[in-house]
Amino acid sequence: EAKAAGRNAIRFFDPDMQRAVNERAHLEQDLRTAIRDGQLRLYLQSQVDTHCQVIGAEALIRWQHHERGLLSPAAFIPLAEDTGLIIPIGQWVLEQSCQLLAHWATQPDKEHLTLSVNVSVRQFMEPDFVTSILAALDATGAPPNRLKLELTESLLAKDLATVVAKMNDVKRWGVRLSMDDFGTGYSSLSYLRQLPLNQLKIDQSFVRHIVSSDHDAAIADMILSLASHLDLSVVAEGVETHDQRNRLEELGCRQFQGYLFGRPVPVAEW
Ligand code: C2E
Ligand code: MG
Ligand code: MG
Ligand code: MG
Repeated sequence: EAKAAGRNAIRFFDPDMQRAVNERAHLEQDLRTAIRDGQLRLYLQSQVDTHCQVIGAEALIRWQHHERGLLSPAAFIPLAEDTGLIIPIGQWVLEQSCQLLAHWATQPDKEHLTLSVNVSVRQFMEPDFVTSILAALDATGAPPNRLKLELTESLLAKDLATVVAKMNDVKRWGVRLSMDDFGTGYSSLSYLRQLPLNQLKIDQSFVRHIVSSDHDAAIADMILSLASHLDLSVVAEGVETHDQRNRLEELGCRQFQGYLFGRPVPVAEW
């Protein structure tokens, strides 16, 4: 058996695959160091209303890597999720975000702003997730109703009763809940009805061609009317042009986020 397995292992050995495995292990080690040594950065991207007034921001993580420069979440969040490093990373984002909210609360021109924070499924499913949110709010004095957690439809692959109970648990403290990338994932409409959400985010894949594609406009239209019936607010993501923004407004959208209004920038520059 061992001999056969050995032969198979040799037959399937692939230098490219080996390189990928090595790179991954290396990146994981780097990421552990990054968390410890403070190489993570919080960026903010504005969210605006129909008058172009800033109503809040989304917190987006970056990694200032010592050799590779500024890395976007796509380069390390999937690895962080696989390895469990998303837990300390998510905790860091949450603490930074609550500190910021507490700071805004002391400034008359910023006290009304909301801050949206992305939450991974793995993070949400941790037994002490709700406790860690409350601890971060408590430690900083951040107003809970200014904190918005962005969840994704992949949560719906988990036990629905558990997910709903947890959502209700955080909402009880005033924290708001938003469904990110809405329309790209699992959710059936019957699931949506059961989730105690405050907001839907129209994914940028529907916004991109909204001006030229009647299909994409129809999806945005459907999301907006659904949200209005369920009493949810809607933010359109990835808005890059005036035409996209205007089309979305025609369909009833009142909140926007995208390069048209501002790219993600470091907190200090925002
Ligand atoms: P997301 O939450 O859907 O965030 C929106 C992404 O779209 C961001 O990418 C943002 O920079 C980008 N974006 C915003 N406006 C535009 C636009 O007008 N055009 C285009 N083409 N793109 C736009 P980013 O910052 O690279 O983040 C990617 C994803 O990584 C996020 O998608 C989110 O799922 C995840 N992520 C970011 N920060 C965190 C975090 O702190 N924790 C977790 N768990 N995930 C995070
Ligand atoms: Mg998001
Ligand atoms: Mg999104
Ligand atoms: Mg996305």
